[in-house]
This record gives sequence, C-alpha cells and structure tokens, in this order.
Amino acid sequence: MPDNLLSGIYDNDPIAISKAITIIENDIQISNAFFNKLHSKSGNSFRIGITGPPGAGKSTLTNRLIDTFLLNNKSVGVIAVDPSSPFTGGALLGDRVRMNQYLWDDRVFIRSMGSNGELGGLARKTHDIGDILAASGKDVVLFETVGVGQGEHDVAKAVDLTIVVLVPESGDEIQMMKAGLIEIADAFVINKSDRDGANRLGSLLKNILHNHLDDKKIEPPVFNTIAVNGDGIVDLYKGIEDLFISMKNNGKLDFKRLERYRYRVYDIIMERLKNKFWTKNNRLLLNSVTKSIDMIKMGPYSMADELLNSHSSD
Ligand code: GDP
Repeated sequence: MPDNLLSGIYDNDPIAISKAITIIENDIQISNAFFNKLHSKSGNSFRIGITGPPGAGKSTLTNRLIDTFLLNNKSVGVIAVDPSSPFTGGALLGDRVRMNQYLWDDRVFIRSMGSNGELGGLARKTHDIGDILAASGKDVVLFETVGVGQGEHDVAKAVDLTIVVLVPESGDEIQMMKAGLIEIADAFVINKSDRDGANRLGSLLKNILHNHLDDKKIEPPVFNTIAVNGDGIVDLYKGIEDLFISMKNNGKLDFKRLERYRYRVYDIIMERLKNKFWTKNNRLLLNSVTKSIDMIKMGPYSMADELLNSHSSD
C-alpha cells in the first residue's frame, strides 16, 4: 500500500479510501507497517452492524440513519456487505443512487463490498475496512449485511454494536434462528411497522429474549420503525446513542474492542499458518497420495496428521 494512500486516507480523500478498500477486497498483500500506522488512528469511530433478511428495509433504514447522524454533526462511513450474492451489479447501482445523494458531502462515504460468492476472509476484511474508514475520521462506521448465514456473524464480530432488522412477518424466522439472533443482537428494529403484526412480533421477540437470555446479558431494546417515512428513526438514533454511552461507561465497549483485537490476531495467525502449510509441495503431496479413491487407505484425520508431520516446506 503506497504511502500517499495512507495520507489520502488521513485527509478523508474518497479516492484514496476507495482504492485502499479495493486493495483489501482483492486480498492484495499489505505490509504490517501500513496497519501499524492505521491502528494508531482507528480507535475513535463507533462501528455498527445492521443485519437482517433481504428486503427488510436495511438500506432504507441506513439512509435514514445517515441523515440523522449528519444532523447530529457526525460523519458516517457505510459499507454494504452482501456475502450471499456473487453479483455486485445491483449493489453497485444502489450505491450510485445513494452516493449521488451525498456526492458533495465529504462527511459521508458509501461503498458496497461484494465477496464473489465466497465468505472467506469476510471478518478480516470487515475489520480492515473499518480501520480505514475510522482513520479517515468517520465518527460512525455502518456495516449493512444480509442476515442469511455466516456473514452476519462475521460482521458482528467486527463491530461494537449489532442491530438486527426484522419485519412484522418475521415471526417464523425468529423462531428458527433465535439462538443465533440473541447471540449477536444488541438491539432489534421492527421495520415496516406500518404493516399488521408489528405489535405481535414485538411481544414475541420480548418473550423470546426474556426466556433465552442469560442473566448477565442486558436485554436488547426493540425499536419500531417505518423507514420509508422516517417514523421511529429519531428514537432509534437516541437508542443507539444511549447504548453507546452505557457501553462506554460500563466498560463493555473496551471489553468488546479488546476481544475483537484478540479475535483478529487469532484469525490472522490461523490464516498465516494455513498459508504457510499449504505450499505448492504440500498441495502436490496431497494430490499424489489421493490419485484415486481406491488408493486412500486411511481416514481424513490420519491423512491430515500424516501431511502435517511430513514437514514439507518451501
Ligand atoms: P434491504 O434489502 O433490507 O436493504 O431492503 P430495502 O431498504 O431495499 O427495502 C426493501 C423494500 O421495502 C423497498 O421497496 C422499500 O421501499 C420498502 N420499505 C423499506 N422500509 C419500509 C417500511 O418501513 N414500510 C414499508 N411498507 N416498506 C418499506
């Protein structure tokens, strides 16, 4: 990563920020020195994940939140992550519409992140991109992600606060994924509250939270919104602010950030060890001892141990 990109990021230059994100997205090797410099400048922004099923209104809600943050003199970086889709065309088009709205406003940076259908490295990339946006001086970094699989868990690990967006029709969905949802959600939004069933869903959700939360975890607040006309957004904004203040005061924010740092180091080590092991020679070795299915005389665990013990390296 060239040094002028780093100074461009510090200067909040959208082109430099964009280039740096592309480099991360494409898994291009970046020096430790770059991240060391970034690290010292990336501790000040509040990172929020917004997740939920497709069509729940996450983008509409995010746009409303951007406006509300701006009204409160806070700059915002937004990354729309769609790990389930190999196509970024739709997202890019959406981006363009959204970006046009803020084209001349250097307090807002919006970008979508395709993952080419692969989830690999999403958590790492989310951390790295969060650092870039934080170092550019954004007060708030929002990660918008589709909650349909592993993606939202990866993003939840990389943020300070996760908001799960549901719609009145989400009852079955909650029943199915309650454990996972409770694990990641710091707050819930029932969007499309102009539709029937919003109150029923609210009660169901509160019931589930009450019965499934262990005593230590604070019950996540539930907000009702109608993102299309902005109803409930101010309350949601205030709720986010309250959560941030209480997390700061009770030490949870520092704790989460520390956990995040540890998780990140753990993740980097896993990846580096994996890359170190899977040299060309070791790949060839695996292929040569598994030429045909009849050749394989041991289970996969023993095979893995054999390869690990063979110490082939270059
Ligand atoms: P995403 O896929 O979760 O990002 O959802 P979008 O923000 O793209 O919204 C999906 C559709 O729901 C769009 O047609 C929105 O206009 C609509 N929508 C969003 N919020 C609301 C709401 O509060 N009420 C209603 N009735 N429609 C909404």
